[in-house]
Amino acid sequence: MLHEKLSSVYDHVLRRNPGETEFHQAVREVLESIGPVLGKHPEYAESKIIERICEPERQIIFRVPWSDDQGEVHINRGFRVEFNSALGPYKGGLRFHPSVYLGIVKFLGFEQIFKNSLTGLPIGGGKGGSDFEPKGRSTNEIMRFCQSFMTELYRHIGEYTDVPAGDIGVGQREVGYLFGQYKRITNRYESGVITGKGLSYGGAQVRTEATGYGCTFFVEEMLKARGTSFDGRRVVVSGSGNVAIYTIEKVEQLGGTVIACSDSSGYILAEKGIDLDLLKQIKQVEHHRLDVYAGRAGKEVTFVPNRSVWEVPCEVAMPSATQNEITGKDAEHLVRNGCVAVGEGANMPTTPEGIRVFLEAGVAFGPGKAANAGGVATSALEMQQNASRDSWTFEYSEDRLREIMRDIHARCLKTADEYGMPGNYVAGANIDGFKRVADAMLALGLI
Ligand code: GLU
Repeated sequence: MLHEKLSSVYDHVLRRNPGETEFHQAVREVLESIGPVLGKHPEYAESKIIERICEPERQIIFRVPWSDDQGEVHINRGFRVEFNSALGPYKGGLRFHPSVYLGIVKFLGFEQIFKNSLTGLPIGGGKGGSDFEPKGRSTNEIMRFCQSFMTELYRHIGEYTDVPAGDIGVGQREVGYLFGQYKRITNRYESGVITGKGLSYGGAQVRTEATGYGCTFFVEEMLKARGTSFDGRRVVVSGSGNVAIYTIEKVEQLGGTVIACSDSSGYILAEKGIDLDLLKQIKQVEHHRLDVYAGRAGKEVTFVPNRSVWEVPCEVAMPSATQNEITGKDAEHLVRNGCVAVGEGANMPTTPEGIRVFLEAGVAFGPGKAANAGGVATSALEMQQNASRDSWTFEYSEDRLREIMRDIHARCLKTADEYGMPGNYVAGANIDGFKRVADAMLALGLI
């Protein structure tokens, strides 16, 4: 239910941003949480902070022309939405995927504002990307695409302005090509202009692992708050990209067993656990589908094509693929099968119906804004190291990440308590993330 004032803000957002359904969904979720804040803080409504937060500071859309290995010309669309810079330079990844359009970039950018605020680090919110499909493209094609993309993007970004990173379809290889082109155009070795870099040219330890590790630390905290742990738990992770792989790695280190993971072709069921070296080889080196994993892993692993991984009974679910992958029905299924905790490694992977089902069933539900904030938090640590021309050890960086995730968890719980919704991490994350941005905006005048 929306507070009366917020309902008119929401209607306005719907009218002003037609057809951008994912953006509407992300806005609605935050507005549903912050009603109680307005009662305590009339100054937010008086100064129209919420209306201002829902309108990006700047939206950039550009043409990305490139030619493939056969010489054929392609034209993609590039985006960068600079949503909010009250807390620091715009910060957020780039997504290369055919589903990308303005509505996806705006949903991701909007989420990023609150996620980044929750980390407690000095970063604003932004997001970008392109409807480019990297699947099936050669390394040279990817490089030319990245160079063309940066040839426009470079004029909008900078260490103190806007700092992109990776997301779906953009990993260390792409970040390298993007940084290389930025350096060439600007003639500046400005390491802090992009994060997720390789270790040989200004990257940070643990950045690659950070989203998956961080999400696992967050779930560990949720379980601890309920007097339990990962030890001996059956865990299902969706996806098999960067977030999923390092979630599986950390869950296993903490004593859980990941019995299933998925890709767009289906899922693998491995009752005895997943062979992570084999999964990394197949996904990160050979770029194959999961049926190849099942073929090589032998009899104990089954590949189930074209079905949802959420039909697999588990105690902990860690959606790490993409938005809206857990529907209300999936959530009911998970609850019926004994799921006690959910940690969102992806951005907005649970639909509003799904979230309702989990909260009503008393499942410990860690929303992406809080649970997957370890990625961007470690990006902020990368920026710190770049600014001081320093580099930290793996152990130190992982300790910092764990501390940040513990702190986010504690703040979500405390805020949820304060507002009379104990254990509700969705409310805790939205309210805490919102308040920090709102207070900074108030302090900075009418911006
Ligand atoms: N794309 C990641 C996210 O959704 C990381 C962003 C970053 O490191 O800037 O938070």
